[in-house]
Amino acid sequence: MDKDIDQINPYDDAMGRITEVAERYNIDEKDIEILKHPKKILMVNFPVHTSRGLKIISGYRVQYNDALGPTKGGLRFHPHVSITEVKALAFWMTLKNALLDLPYGGAKGGITIDPRGFTQRDLEEISREYIRQIHSFIGPAKDIPAPDVYTNPKIMGWMMDEFGKIKGEHVPAVITGKPLSIGGSQARSYSTAMGGFCVLREALAKYKINPLQTKTAIQGFGNAGMNLAKIMNSNNMIVVAVSDSKGGIYDKNGLNIKSVINHKNETGSVVNFTGAKNITNNDILELNVDIVVPAALENVITQKNVQNINAKIILELANGPITRKADKMLYEKKIIVLPDILANAGGVTVSYFEWMQNLYGARWTEEEILKKLDNRMKNAFDELYDNYVSESYVDFRTAAYAYAIKKIIQAEKDRGRI
Ligand code: GLU
Repeated sequence: MDKDIDQINPYDDAMGRITEVAERYNIDEKDIEILKHPKKILMVNFPVHTSRGLKIISGYRVQYNDALGPTKGGLRFHPHVSITEVKALAFWMTLKNALLDLPYGGAKGGITIDPRGFTQRDLEEISREYIRQIHSFIGPAKDIPAPDVYTNPKIMGWMMDEFGKIKGEHVPAVITGKPLSIGGSQARSYSTAMGGFCVLREALAKYKINPLQTKTAIQGFGNAGMNLAKIMNSNNMIVVAVSDSKGGIYDKNGLNIKSVINHKNETGSVVNFTGAKNITNNDILELNVDIVVPAALENVITQKNVQNINAKIILELANGPITRKADKMLYEKKIIVLPDILANAGGVTVSYFEWMQNLYGARWTEEEILKKLDNRMKNAFDELYDNYVSESYVDFRTAAYAYAIKKIIQAEKDRGRI
């Protein structure tokens, strides 16, 4: 069984899901074929003289489907980035953008490096060279990258600058998640977490669960996980456990997230936080809590640990954290899964607001953005909830996939492509 789990391929898993959804919702097998193939894949290998010597860096960009508009999706820096992973992530972006009614197709990119092993100067050179390699593949009406795992506004700023130098003009709308000073948007930095918080709030209300009486465990303390912990704490919700790549911490009475952030800034990790117990990254998923939030990487809830999940609700802030088989078991256990393509869509939604501001030369306030974000997340959740009820309580992921897939197929047909 362990071997099977190690071999879980997120792309095959995602493709298997499309077939199931098509059967469940009577979508014609012929129509879904287009979604089983990424439209364009670019792989680049380029040399960079780093502080650790000459390195040949591999990067990818997958434009999965563009029926709904220019492709959009993040760019990650991680040692495990592979073409299979980027294809799966690009497919999920396609569904996510369709689900949120954004005028975008889906894409994703990645560079196979551990950024922690490089200096800022090295990262700048890698980022700029990646753009020199892929510049003809991207653009505001073509494909618009954004931050993802281990990338940030600074990197987006370098990339936008390099793109502008190549084109000989300012093109802020080519990339989102930029620093505020050069066309970034208010609230983008914490929008993934804020979107997840809105979805959770709506779900708790539907299930008549008092948020103040819940306990939450969050796996991953990067942009998404850390900001969610902060937002929950400032809304008086109890976060009992958090973790990062070095391990986790647990305090049954609740953690003071501001102090945990200070501790992480001082020591480089959340572990060894005074008053809390150190736990592992797997323990955190199995705690006796109401809400579990995987906010790091793919395939963390599998057949191996699904039986030990005790939460009532799983909010997927990461992309693809639950395998297809584990998902089925969670459904049987009546655990509510708020799927990634909805739960973490706040990031790309505010990216859309950033892109619009750049195209119009506009500046919207934080309040305006938060209001628009809240509306979109609430509407998307309500839509899904209605579908879930009318489809005799199918799981939310299936309902979300069906909504997105139908929309994309309609666009493909209206374009006369299929
Ligand atoms: N990387 C984020 C995601 O997975 C954001 C994408 C974007 O803003 O385009 O949704």
